[in-house]
Amino acid sequence: MITIALSKGRIFDETVPLLKAAGIVTRENPETSRKLILETNRRNVRVIIVRATDVPTYVQFGGADIGVAGKDVLDEHGGDGLYTPLDLKIAKCRMMVAVRKDFDYASAVRQGARLKIATKYVQTAREHFANKGVHVDLIKLYGSMELAPLVGLADAIVDLVSTGGTLKANGLVAVEEIVQISSRLVVNQAALKLKRAQLQPLIDTFTRAVG
Ligand code: ATP
Ligand code: MG
Repeated sequence: MITIALSKGRIFDETVPLLKAAGIVTRENPETSRKLILETNRRNVRVIIVRATDVPTYVQFGGADIGVAGKDVLDEHGGDGLYTPLDLKIAKCRMMVAVRKDFDYASAVRQGARLKIATKYVQTAREHFANKGVHVDLIKLYGSMELAPLVGLADAIVDLVSTGGTLKANGLVAVEEIVQISSRLVVNQAALKLKRAQLQPLIDTFTRAVG
């Protein structure tokens, strides 16, 4: 049995065509079904639905053999026990620093000010500002990061941006790109050895489908 970990929403939606290329079709849609284990047309392949941030954990500890996770999530999680052979080039966005329109980020950095940064991506933010030599206080949030600079909780946020619509709607602007994000295939290293005959063809098909 091969277990594939996916999250609902854009990652599931954008992985469906890749699974289809490998001849795998789920019997139910996670948006309409409450089931967390989805059977597929292949008796020996199933899909489990987990939170996006939990995909690396399931794969690392063998709850799933393979999964799809954003580079943002993988950078925070760390790579222990995980093999990431392929950039699937789906769910693309950018990790960015954003501030209130009226906040002069460049001069705050130039003056060596200590910045308060609110983010869900604490590791990524810590590394980014350490590399720049900027001193920061990190404030961990779990969502609605855009609010933090508006109510004085933080000077800046580190968050994913695609169109910039949410930033704009809240009077924020992106001032710095940290890294380009897309989703990666993640494979349990032990499973790759034990189930190579099933997993390698899947990885090869995905590789061809991504192009
Ligand atoms: P939830 O929204 O349930 O709290 P989440 O935000 O982690 O969880 P998604 O919004 O589905 O889940 O994001 C899953 C992945 O998709 C992220 O880890 C990231 O790699 C990518 N992603 C997030 N936001 C965007 C976006 N606006 N455009 C493209 N890709 C994105
Ligand atoms: Mg989200």
